[in-house]
Amino acid sequence: ELIVENIHLKYGTAEVLGGASFSVEKGKIAALLGPSGSGKTTLLRTIAGLERACEGRIRVSGQEVLNCSAGLDLPAEKRGLGFVFQSYALWPNRTVFDNVAYGLRLRKVAETEIRRKVGAVCEVLGLGHLQQRFPAQLSGGQQQRVAIARSLAYDPAVLLLDEPLSNLDAKLRDEARAFLKELITREERAAVIVTHDQIEALAIADTIILLNGGVIAQEGSPEDLYNRPKTLFTADFIGNNV
Ligand code: ATP
Repeated sequence: ELIVENIHLKYGTAEVLGGASFSVEKGKIAALLGPSGSGKTTLLRTIAGLERACEGRIRVSGQEVLNCSAGLDLPAEKRGLGFVFQSYALWPNRTVFDNVAYGLRLRKVAETEIRRKVGAVCEVLGLGHLQQRFPAQLSGGQQQRVAIARSLAYDPAVLLLDEPLSNLDAKLRDEARAFLKELITREERAAVIVTHDQIEALAIADTIILLNGGVIAQEGSPEDLYNRPKTLFTADFIGNNV
């Protein structure tokens, strides 16, 4: 599970995150929702270890990966997290197999073990028969699954996904959303998904964390935010402004 406590981050003198705290349990999905510039991507990247916070703590499966006051800041690859970028960031000149294997090879995992892990993760994601294809020979939904496969190859406890469904057309998006939800629940991982789309957040999340100007405006179940908005901002943003 993931615990994020009081994260502050500045770019120069501008405070972009002003004390964000939330947690996600195993098998659950939290959506970071908010308007453009509210700090969603920055918060996700801070959890991943790709941005440096100036205050706060983060724990992954009970292990502290960030503790600013104690000077602890583990690098991304030591945090036990999987990260799926918005663009999928696949290597165009490598096969599906090699894309998924890439990080394992960097970590000098033995080739027989790589073959076993890549095969297993591709099977789970319905990519078993596509392992020798190149990204350009795949549909958008299949490319997205390759990006997820690559992040799952290390068996991370927590998955971080930045707008994972935004490149898909409406029909593929419904399928991919259901697939992702089922995968996270079944494999008991915790997931944080960034989206600017309130309908997406309502459809996928167990908890919605609504950001406004780098602080959490409201956190709760989709039902909570929809039916019991605490402020006009929440009501406006979630679209139940009655
Ligand atoms: P979007 O939905 O448009 O992607 P977001 O909610 O993900 O927005 P962030 O990308 O996290 O927002 O940006 C939060 C704020 O930090 C914005 O005001 C942005 O201009 C600023 N910002 C982001 N990256 C940098 C950077 N490298 N240097 C300076 N300011 C930055």
